[in-house]
This record gives sequence, structure tokens and C-alpha cells, in this order.
Amino acid sequence: MNRKVHRRTLLKLGLAASAGTAGASLVAGASAAPEAMPAPPDNTMGVLVDTTLCIGCRKCEEACNRRNHLPRTAESFSDRDILRSFRRPTESAFTVVNQFPGSPSTDQPGLPQTYVKVQCMHCLYPSCVSACIVGALTKASDGAVVYNPTICIGCRYCQIACPFEIPAYEFHEPLTPRVRKCEFCTDRAQGTGANPACAASCPTEALVFGRRAELLDMAKSRLKQRPDRYLDRVYGETEVGGTSWLYLTGRPVQEIGLLNLPGAPPAQRTEAIQHGIFKYGMIPIAFYGLLSYLMWRNNPQREEFSGEAEARDASPKPDAKGGAE
Ligand code: SF4
Ligand code: SF4
Ligand code: SF4
Repeated sequence: MNRKVHRRTLLKLGLAASAGTAGASLVAGASAAPEAMPAPPDNTMGVLVDTTLCIGCRKCEEACNRRNHLPRTAESFSDRDILRSFRRPTESAFTVVNQFPGSPSTDQPGLPQTYVKVQCMHCLYPSCVSACIVGALTKASDGAVVYNPTICIGCRYCQIACPFEIPAYEFHEPLTPRVRKCEFCTDRAQGTGANPACAASCPTEALVFGRRAELLDMAKSRLKQRPDRYLDRVYGETEVGGTSWLYLTGRPVQEIGLLNLPGAPPAQRTEAIQHGIFKYGMIPIAFYGLLSYLMWRNNPQREEFSGEAEARDASPKPDAKGGAE
């Protein structure tokens, strides 16, 4: 077994394995056929990201950083060298832009260089919300998925559940670590629905904020008008049940760091697992026990440690006076 398993993959394995041990009732609940997805409410807001218009200026990153009072970054936001390394959102960067080379760096002729902004997708059926056992993550009436740090218990189920691998965790905070992610610039004092800082700062209108239904129409109309420019797909229209953030691309999504995901929302599965765990009295310790076992098994230092232990056992034992037997 490859021991270099990514920690999130390992946690997902743990969740799947624990679900497997949860008994027939739980399994039946978890594998139930997905229900038909109701249409999202009319007031669901969203952002249309047109990757063919993005120039990789990182103004959105800067605006997000400022809007959310995130720590200053070591490098300047005008530094474009950083675009060359693939990045994910972190606890101190809720959105990042990645660069994907076009021709002539690739063997496909006529392929444009592509920049892709990444952040929480504000799923219509968010797995993070359904996985959170204390309700620290909730979906606001306009579709934003928001976080309440005062009730979060730090279990990080949301990290395991998110199909886009978005929530980050403040591991460096010893006393009050929080889950951090884009909250759609939700203004708790004035309610939601303000133009997000990233969209407001975008100089090329690669980011357009509005009602999701209208953005979807806009995206489809662009597809119709410029079939030469776009791939015939609105990413986020159906992925995992649909997302508030929608993407237009000129290249296959898997080439530009967007995950190819199924249409059924994993939220239903996570919910079934969570409900099963509590409904049928599954003790969370069993989950943690299994998780610890998996982590121990996959710990690359385990064999080294066992080897050392064996060597120690085989070595002559000191007698009570400190000499070897
Ligand atoms: S992208 Fe992940 S963190 Fe964001 S709403 Fe969807 S499941 Fe939750
Ligand atoms: S909506 Fe707000 S929090 Fe989310 S990426 Fe844009 S600026 Fe950042
Ligand atoms: S501000 Fe707009 S053009 Fe600039 S990197 Fe962000 S999305 Fe792209």
C-alpha cells in the first residue's frame, strides 16, 4: 500500500470505512437513491467566472485578502511568478488564481494560456453543511455557505466532506482554531447579497456577480454566441447538485484544475452517514479509533519505529546496576 496517502484522502477513507462498519441500517440509509433535486430558490446569488476573460492579475486575491482582514502575504499581489505553482485556498488565502500554460508550452496548437480562480463554490447542496454535526456551517437564504466559529467543535468533518477540498483549518492557532473559507463576502450586520470584493475588483469582468438563474442564462447565451471560444458546458450547473459559482472554460476542466465531479450531491450521503451515526447510537470514538488505526498503518515511521523496538528487545538488557546481562 502506498503510504504517501494525502491526509484528506486518508480522512475520507476513514469516513468511508467507518460508514462501512455502521451496521446494515446505516448502510441502507447511506446508499439510498438520491432524491430529485428541487430547483434552488430564486434569490440564490452566484458568480459567473469566465476563465477566457481572466488575465491572472490577482486583483481578486488582493481584494479578498483585504475584505477578510487576512494576514499580509510575503510576496506582493503584483508578483505573477507565484501563478506558476499550483495553489489551493488556505486559511490565509480564501481565493487563489492558478495559471495553466497554453501553446507552445503544450503540444496542442492554438491553446490559450488559462487562469483559473478558485474559492468555495457555495454548493446548492453543501456537503460541509450536512456533515457538520453542530450546525456551525449553514446555508444563508441567498445561497452563501457561512460559518459560525462560536459553535464549531473543530471535528473537521466539513474538510472531509467537501468535494472541492476547500475548507482550511487554523492548525497554528493553539486556543481558538477556526475553519476558514470564502463566505461570499457575507455581511453579518447588513445581511447578504453585496457585490463580493473579488468580483467588484476584477478589471476584465471575468467575474460577474448576480442571481444564479440569470448568470446561467448569461453563460448559455455566451456558449451559443461563441462556440469557437467555449467548451459547451457550464461547470457548476449540475456538478454535485449545482453550485452558486459557475465557470465557463475554453478547455476541458480537468486540464485547468477543476475537478470532474458527478451530478448527485454527496451531501445526501454525508447526511445519511451523520444521521445514521447518531440515530443508531454509533459511538464517535469508534470512528476516531478506526481513523487512528488507519493513520498508524499509514505512518511511514511505523516500520522504522517497529524495527527500532525489535532491535531494542533483542539487545542485552541492563541489570539493576546498569550493566548488561
Ligand atoms: S465547496 Fe465545499 S466548503 Fe464550499 S459549500 Fe461546497 S462543500 Fe461547502
Ligand atoms: S466572495 Fe468574498 S470571500 Fe469569497 S473569494 Fe470573493 S472576495 Fe473572497
Ligand atoms: S481580478 Fe479578474 S482578471 Fe484578475 S485574476 Fe482575478 S478573476 Fe482574473
